[in-house]
Amino acid sequence: MVDIRSQYLRLQPDIDKGIAEVLDTAAFIKGPAVKEFRAELADYLGVPYLIPCANGTDALQVALMALNLQAGDEVITTNFTFISTVEVLVLLRLKPILVDVDPLTFNIDPNKIREAITPRTKAIIPVHLFGQPADMESIQEIAGDHGLFVIEDNAQSLGASYSYQDGTCKMAGTLGNIGTTSFFPTKPLACYGDGGALMTADPHLAETMEMIINHGAKVKYHHEIIGVNSRLDSIQAAILRVNLRNLDDFIDRRRKVAAVYNQRLGSRPGIKIPVTDQKGTHVYHQYTIQLDPEVRDSVQSKLSLKGIPSIIYYPVPLSLQKAFNFAGYRQGDFPVTENLCKSVLSLPIHTEMDSEQMDYICTNLLNIIDHE
Ligand SMILES: *Cc1c(COP(=O)(O)O)cnc(C)c1O
Repeated sequence: MVDIRSQYLRLQPDIDKGIAEVLDTAAFIKGPAVKEFRAELADYLGVPYLIPCANGTDALQVALMALNLQAGDEVITTNFTFISTVEVLVLLRLKPILVDVDPLTFNIDPNKIREAITPRTKAIIPVHLFGQPADMESIQEIAGDHGLFVIEDNAQSLGASYSYQDGTCKMAGTLGNIGTTSFFPTKPLACYGDGGALMTADPHLAETMEMIINHGAKVKYHHEIIGVNSRLDSIQAAILRVNLRNLDDFIDRRRKVAAVYNQRLGSRPGIKIPVTDQKGTHVYHQYTIQLDPEVRDSVQSKLSLKGIPSIIYYPVPLSLQKAFNFAGYRQGDFPVTENLCKSVLSLPIHTEMDSEQMDYICTNLLNIIDHE
């Protein structure tokens, strides 16, 4: 699905040099590489405050902790995403309220958010899924109407931008009150282990979040609030500095793969290619097609026989996950998400794909579908 090793080999001199510098200084925690990386990423995103942390799940947890919510407060989020969001809500004794998504963009449906608001609603967490920002203009309008916080889960769309109707353009993750991201090895901006970050334009939130990730302390051994230990280590920061310098090129390479897929698969009945929303740019963290649920699994096995990997993101809606049984959702509550879980298939897309590989994948996929 991704080729991290080939990407490393291409960038090896820079990466090795960055790692060697950290080893040389032995500043493994809070070293200069972390300081430099955070300034460089803040600059790239055009955001005043950027706080690195240990991973994208922690980033979501720290963001929620910083908002001072009370047990039982409701937070609205999408049913079609990775488990992290709902996990941290439950851990913090907040109440996740899931809503359905748009069947074309896979992103949270603002109309469904409106319907889910109650007097206990305190925040909305849109996820910019598969590389494309959610409909932030509508979401922020709803949040404004009801005085709600917006936390953007931008683990999958770092580098995408979003344009409002008035022409203002901002980077995904910098639109809401807080943005969170992950540097897991397969994400758009990746390290070689775990990493994450929080973004905000609000100095008070920034100060609180900085304290939370450092055991609730501004000054060592003086703990003002209850926090966690969640740091980005220096070796990962050194790798991230190199990958950040290459991020626009990475995105460009992924877009070129997507363009080939669009061209080869777009006109084929039986394959629905991903739709791009005009307000956001797409960084193609995933290239996710939709197939007839009757044939999807068989197409996937036949691709696999040809040595072509593919993954179903996501096979089960959050509402039907066993861990989430207590919430009382049932089959049929989220028709769009439930249908997507049966029809989506993500194809290989990465920065090192050559035209031969793309041709092999497209030719075989079209062939398999012809014979279904
Ligand atoms: C990857 C991911 C996360 C979690 O990031 P980790 O760094 O793995 O903890 C959260 N939300 C979404 C949408 C993700 O894709």
